[in-house]
Amino acid sequence: MKLVILGAPGAGKGTIAKLLSAVDGSVQISTGDILRGAIESGSEWGRQAQAYMSRGELAPDALIMEVMEARLQQPDCENGFLLDGFPRTIPQAQALHQLFDKLGITLDLALNIEVPRDVVLERLTTRRTCENPECQAIYNIKSKPPAREGVCDKCGSAVVQRDDETEAAINRRLQTYTEKTAPLIGFYRQRGLLLTTPSTSSEEVVAAVTGRLGSAH
Ligand code: AMP
Repeated sequence: MKLVILGAPGAGKGTIAKLLSAVDGSVQISTGDILRGAIESGSEWGRQAQAYMSRGELAPDALIMEVMEARLQQPDCENGFLLDGFPRTIPQAQALHQLFDKLGITLDLALNIEVPRDVVLERLTTRRTCENPECQAIYNIKSKPPAREGVCDKCGSAVVQRDDETEAAINRRLQTYTEKTAPLIGFYRQRGLLLTTPSTSSEEVVAAVTGRLGSAH
């Protein structure tokens, strides 16, 4: 399947992308993970993105498009992809659809995961991530803590709060979402590609997507 996944930070885009990836092997592509990997490896992309990310702001559209133009042409995208956290602005969406036209790709669906603001705030401020870039396992200090406090169950590295998951950065990210990303809902609705679901149950979101794709094909 070829999907764009929309939703506020903390809506569960990554979790849903992983579940959908298990359905048919479509590759999950998270721009946030790519940028964090680029920072870790000291690459030029990472150097350019770092300051924006730690402030909870979006990285520049031109930088993101350069990263994604390269990523979408990797062979593993041929069998389908789940774009998690991209596009995040109208200019990115326009550039993405030009790129799709150039590459002969047809998008199946834009999935919009809806979640109330208080739920997002609670989820993100209690979220912790394994700092090992190869692992990046996600924990929650309330609902899913690691067995040993601060230590990753999977690889033994430190489990930390991301710079952009402090309360101040989260408030900025939510504001950025409302201003820059929420308009994409209208963009995809106009194109007849939008599917909106509440994020209450991951299984129900997955069933809504497979149901819609099944009936469309
Ligand atoms: P995420 O893990 O998707 O929440 O992304 C973390 C941060 O990476 C965001 O707050 C942005 O600073 C940056 N980022 C990720 N994806 C994009 C994108 N499509 N456009 C601009 N910035 C992005």
